[in-house]
Amino acid sequence: MFNNSNHAYIKDGWFREINDKSFPGQAFTMAVDSILYQAQSEFQDILIFRNKVYGTVLVLDGIIQCTEFDEFAYQEMITHIAMFAHSNPKRVLIIGGGDGGVLREVAKHSCVKQITMVEIDASVIELSRKFLPTLSDGAFEDERLDLKLCDGFKFLQDIGDSGLQNRYDVIVTDSSDPEGPAEAFFQERYFQLLKNALNPNGVVIMQSSENIWLNLNYLRDLKNTAKKVFPNTEYCYTMVPTYTSGQLGLIVCSNNASLSLANPQRVISEQEQEQLKYYNPQIHSSAFVLPTWADMIINK
Ligand code: SAM
Repeated sequence: MFNNSNHAYIKDGWFREINDKSFPGQAFTMAVDSILYQAQSEFQDILIFRNKVYGTVLVLDGIIQCTEFDEFAYQEMITHIAMFAHSNPKRVLIIGGGDGGVLREVAKHSCVKQITMVEIDASVIELSRKFLPTLSDGAFEDERLDLKLCDGFKFLQDIGDSGLQNRYDVIVTDSSDPEGPAEAFFQERYFQLLKNALNPNGVVIMQSSENIWLNLNYLRDLKNTAKKVFPNTEYCYTMVPTYTSGQLGLIVCSNNASLSLANPQRVISEQEQEQLKYYNPQIHSSAFVLPTWADMIINK
C-alpha cells in the first residue's frame, strides 16, 4: 500500500529517477508500494521503499543504489573482477559500500586476511542492515573487518602522509555518483591516491556511474584520466536493470603493466563458484569485450 508522500522523488505513487545533468531527457520510474524510510542524513537524502518487482530499494539523493532483486549483478562483478585479477589478495580496501554488498562478496574469499571499509555515512550502514539485511548477510560481523566512518578521499590522503609500507592488494570504490559526497572520486587526483595506496601488483576497480548508451564520451574521458596515472587501465561492465539503461561501466587498473586484467589470475574453486549467481570466469573475460561502436570510442 502506497504511503502518501511529499517526497521530491515520488509523484502519484511513482518514484522517478531524474538526473538532468548526466542523463537529460529520460528517466527510470518504479511504482512505490510502501515507503520504509525517508530522511536527510548529515550527507545525503536517504529513501528506502518497496516495489513489487524489485523488492526493497535504496535511493541516495534521488539515485538508485541497489535493489534486492538485481544487486548481485553489481556486487559480484565489481568485487570478483578485481579479486580474481589478483593472484593472492590479502588486504582489501572498500571505499563507500555502506549497503554492505561488496563487503559480503569480499568476505567470501578465504585468502583475505584484512578488510578495511571506509564509509562516510553511518546511517547508510545502519539502515541497510535494518531494511536490506541480505545485502551484508552478516559480513559486518566478520572479524577481518576494520570499519572506518570517514571520508574515503581523506582516508587515502592520510595514507599518503603516513609512509605506510603494507598497503592494499585490492581497492574497490563502491561509491555513489559524482553529484554529492563522492564527487572527488571521479578525478585524476583520486587515481593518484589509489595508486599510492596499492601494493605493486595491486588492482583497483571503481564504478563509473555511466553507461555506453548515454555517456560514451564521458567513459572515454574517465578511462583516459585513469590512464594518466595507471599503466594498465581497462573498461569492463555489468548489467543491472535498475541502473540507467541497464548497463554500468567499471574502470579497473593496476600498476603492473603486464597483468592481464581481463583474465582471472587464479582458479575459482567449486565451493567459491557455488556461492555466486552472476560472476564466473567466462563472464569475467567477456565483460571486457565491447560492442564495436563503443569499443571504437572507449578503447581506441
Ligand atoms: N552500488 C551503488 C551505486 O553504484 O549506485 C553504490 C552503493 S553504496 C550505498 C555507495 C556509498 O558510498 C554510500 O553509502 C555513500 O554514503 C558512500 N560514499 C559517498 N561518498 C563517500 C565518501 N566521500 N567517502 C566514503 N563513502 C562515501
